[in-house]
Amino acid sequence: MTRRTSWAEPWKIKVVESIKMTTREQREVAIRDAGYNTFLLKSEDCYIDLLTDSGTNAMSDNQWAGMMLGDEAYAGSRNFYALESAVQTYYGYEYLIPTHQGRGAENILSKILIKDGDYVPGNMYFTTTRLHQELAGGTFRDVIIDEAHDPASEHPFKGNVDLDKVKALVAEVGADRIAYITIGVTVNLAGGQPVSMANLREVSTYCHDTGITVILDATRAVENAWFIQQREKGYGDKSVAQILRAMCDLTDGATMSGKKDSLVNIGGWLAVRDRKVAEQAQNLVVVYEGLHTYGGMAGRDMEAMARGIVESVQDDHMRSRIGQVQYLGQKLIDAGVPVVHPIGGHAVFLDAAAILPHIPRDKFPAQALAAALYVESGIRSMERGAVSAGRDAKTGENRYPKLELVRLTIPRRVYTQAHMDVTAESVMEVFDHRDKVRGLEFLYEPEYLRFFQARFGTVGGDGIFA
Ligand SMILES: *Cc1c(COP(=O)(O)O)cnc(C)c1O
Repeated sequence: MTRRTSWAEPWKIKVVESIKMTTREQREVAIRDAGYNTFLLKSEDCYIDLLTDSGTNAMSDNQWAGMMLGDEAYAGSRNFYALESAVQTYYGYEYLIPTHQGRGAENILSKILIKDGDYVPGNMYFTTTRLHQELAGGTFRDVIIDEAHDPASEHPFKGNVDLDKVKALVAEVGADRIAYITIGVTVNLAGGQPVSMANLREVSTYCHDTGITVILDATRAVENAWFIQQREKGYGDKSVAQILRAMCDLTDGATMSGKKDSLVNIGGWLAVRDRKVAEQAQNLVVVYEGLHTYGGMAGRDMEAMARGIVESVQDDHMRSRIGQVQYLGQKLIDAGVPVVHPIGGHAVFLDAAAILPHIPRDKFPAQALAAALYVESGIRSMERGAVSAGRDAKTGENRYPKLELVRLTIPRRVYTQAHMDVTAESVMEVFDHRDKVRGLEFLYEPEYLRFFQARFGTVGGDGIFA
């Protein structure tokens, strides 16, 4: 088998779903009606939908079979115990609190651990995570390494925490004002970049010596484990499952969006080792989500997630999942399209600031590029730049993160290699006409997580292309 290097999928297709190709004229109307926000497009108007990998996974026949075994009792469903056991086995946390999705877990954890005026360091922000920390009275501090803000840096673990930045925060405010540290693995907004085991260990040791709780954002921890196996010395012969468990063992708890790694369409959880925190969480989950043995999920959804966790940690699955993302990324690199390097785990990120240098930051080049790609080919992507970053909680000014990106996010087990080829060709087509793309300005700006529902108009004329 030494000749075989392909990432071919360890499954075959049993059920298919039709997708529809639209005309350019139809797409021009659709994106204008959507306020040039791809979140406001109808799914049926999208040909290849790379908006997100969240909840867009294709489930296996085994997961669908598990759905029929849903125990929809209000309390003590057998599917809760299956999920609890899967989390204990593969993630290693003792107490599991199910939630409807990841942000439900973030809400509960933030309410329990953050006191007004506290600080919460993290390796780059995530939209919902930071908002829940702020709503609980906390202030987020970015402690990711500088390389993460440079799209060209080839650092193999660009998600790493810069321990000196954590130490500086401790010196500035004192360890007792730090509610906890969140470590995202992989780091979504840095481009799906992983954290090394060595870095996790170093940060965890320092934090535990200093009395700081370590929380993992485990949303894509299995993908992170694959990168450790591929890139970090000493892990090449360990399984993804073993590495995942070793990562979690360095932390005190985790929030999880099951809609990513776990190959389901809905669900999430909070998991901790501390019994007192677990009791508080079991109490709060009743207020916001549902009883502590379902937390907003149907029994069948908990069963699908329990089975999805087992499938997600298989090495063959991860090889093809990340292999497909790397395949698309390499095509774009070969074509000379500016993308974030190295290619991350769940998505290829286009460097919109580099592609559209004629559009100033306050006219949102990434938002414009996502709209242009949709008009060109019906491919739906997402902005990850100034619109996603929102406004500063204190000053009300726009935040301008260093990265101004468009994310082509690959749903798990959904699209084929030919779809990746079409995607690459479409991006190249827009790249060839990049000087024609117009900037955008707000017509409507919601207060919270504005990127989801904001509406824009084009600057300097009608239509996204001049
Ligand atoms: C999606 C996501 C979340 C939030 O999870 P939801 O299930 O969407 O509520 C948190 N952190 C990261 C890194 C994510 O990608």
